[in-house]
Amino acid sequence: MTAQKGSIQVNTENIFPIIKKFLYSDHEIFLRELISNATDATTKLQHFSSIGEFNGEMGDLRILVKIDQKNKTLSIIDRGVGMTAEEIDKYINQIAFSGAEEFVKQYKKAGEAGMIGHFGLGFYSAFMVAKKVEIDTLSFREGAKPARWSCDGSTEFVIDKSKRKERGTEIILHIDDENQEFLEEGRISGLLQKYCRFLPVPIQFGTRTEWVDDPENKEEDGSPKKKSIQVDRIINDVAPLWKKSPSELKDEDYKEFYRTLYPMSETPLFWIHLNVDYPFNLTGILYFPQVKNELELQRNKIQLYSNQVFVTDDVKDVVPEFLMLLHGVIDSPDIPLNVSRSFLQSDAQVKKITSHITKKVADKLEEIFKNDRKEYEEKWSSVGLFVKYGAVSDEKFADKALKFALLKDAEGKFHTLEEYKAKVEANQKNKDNKVVFLYTTNAKTQAPFIETAKKRGYDVLEMDGPLDSHFIGFLEHKDSDLSIVRVDADAMDKLIDKGEKRESVLSDTQVEALKKTFTDQVTQKDWEIQTEALSPDDHFITVIKPEWERRMREMQGGAGMFGMLPDRVVVMINTNHPLAGKIAGLKEEAEKKEFVEQSFDLALLSQNMLDGAALERFIRRTESMMK
Ligand code: ADP
Ligand code: MG
Repeated sequence: MTAQKGSIQVNTENIFPIIKKFLYSDHEIFLRELISNATDATTKLQHFSSIGEFNGEMGDLRILVKIDQKNKTLSIIDRGVGMTAEEIDKYINQIAFSGAEEFVKQYKKAGEAGMIGHFGLGFYSAFMVAKKVEIDTLSFREGAKPARWSCDGSTEFVIDKSKRKERGTEIILHIDDENQEFLEEGRISGLLQKYCRFLPVPIQFGTRTEWVDDPENKEEDGSPKKKSIQVDRIINDVAPLWKKSPSELKDEDYKEFYRTLYPMSETPLFWIHLNVDYPFNLTGILYFPQVKNELELQRNKIQLYSNQVFVTDDVKDVVPEFLMLLHGVIDSPDIPLNVSRSFLQSDAQVKKITSHITKKVADKLEEIFKNDRKEYEEKWSSVGLFVKYGAVSDEKFADKALKFALLKDAEGKFHTLEEYKAKVEANQKNKDNKVVFLYTTNAKTQAPFIETAKKRGYDVLEMDGPLDSHFIGFLEHKDSDLSIVRVDADAMDKLIDKGEKRESVLSDTQVEALKKTFTDQVTQKDWEIQTEALSPDDHFITVIKPEWERRMREMQGGAGMFGMLPDRVVVMINTNHPLAGKIAGLKEEAEKKEFVEQSFDLALLSQNMLDGAALERFIRRTESMMK
């Protein structure tokens, strides 16, 4: 054959300078593209062999990656199907090129930020780092002639004869001056680790040193001396765990795989092996990590693969938001990878995948809850974060989560919503027939309120996580017969308002006078003074923080309209308390003032709101009263 020279058919403008310029930070993906082509060529050969279309010797099918420092080239060599000159012309000059052209067009439209993965650029991504690319190849077909293609980054190419004897393809990249880093062993090694760690065909990159027994040389004690030998360095695990059948695997296998993915992390709580082939193809393993506190939560720990090729660890839009807190691997050839994010969000296939993952996770949690409640409760402090986050953010998950979401009472016992409701129903129904749950966000600082509640025979829940205010809102939303209030949200008598009207011990004028005395004394002018005839057993003065406004503020996380305002504080005077009568009866103005100050400070103290100079004054006053 005589050398065929030609021009690649260009429909738009010359794309090579554009390929070179764009995706600058992602230049490295050229290696992933070329190695996945080599993998495809190899698995195709295996396929032809299995159906009897190829009867020759398979030989060693490993893919070689080689750096030649002297000639400044990087080669990727496979022993797959190879190509004839005609095939090069068809697949490289025509199909792949127009594909690359299309990709460039789309890319310019979408803008750099809009891309997930960069599949689609394929072979031509080599020109991001090379000034010249050569293909030396011999097809597996009987009688095929070897061929050599080269292109220097213009639209001109040459297809010529080759002397190649080996079946398969070698891609030779003449690395350009700006991309010399890709001739460094460490850089290539890192990239192979990142993208090719789980590819299905062995990939060899250089050699590594291994120490073995040397039978020729003995130590003094007769044991063999060690000698070093060079062995081929295979960088990948061709059969990663997620591709295996769950029935073959033991817990320890999953834990070990987790350690290889996240060497620094603690043992995961449990895991879900995903394995679907209809109506889409999806495999993977999702792990629930141990989390000690919310600050440790890290997104983007899940790795997305397409047929064992690493694509990205930015799985937003493929995995529901709340499940991004999980760790692990998802592998699906059905996730479109070369399209913009907005497309991904509306893609029906992706939606199906997302809801399938959600369902699997919910089923698994329910299974563990049912089969091993003790273990589930022990892990609740970590698991609860996912469940609560999922419940408040994902409609579908929420309905299932109600069955296995747990509430922890102040004694540390766990209950499902249904169980807890049944437990407190009899004693904690208000006049509107709603069951009222009481909760504390801090068992220590709210201890006086918790104690008062318990005296009444009420039960108190612990809701001290940052997601809990959202979760409380969610529970109320799901169950309209439920009302949830913090123990310090109102006077105890009204916290669960049973509609019993108490007789006032004081006369209306006495109540008015008392209220005025307090109003005059209170230095914080924005605090509200209220009077109420409560049980004589309740505290005299209670400083309360109304539920609704406080919750709004918490949900806004300190920002926004409510966040700017200070907490609304209500000072509740129990006019039926014996002290109310006592103050009303005091003649001496100074004495009255002292009493009011003292009872007011006590109320502040029980809410942890007394500090600085005010605290010092309180101590002095108490001392002098004790005299
Ligand atoms: P894609 O892999 O999506 O088909 P590429 O641009 O990566 O697109 O490759 C274009 C085509 O070139 C491939 O479909 C294949 O036919 C051919 N090709 C590329 N690399 C090889 C290789 N190492 N061995 C055999 N054929 C190859
Ligand atoms: Mg490809």
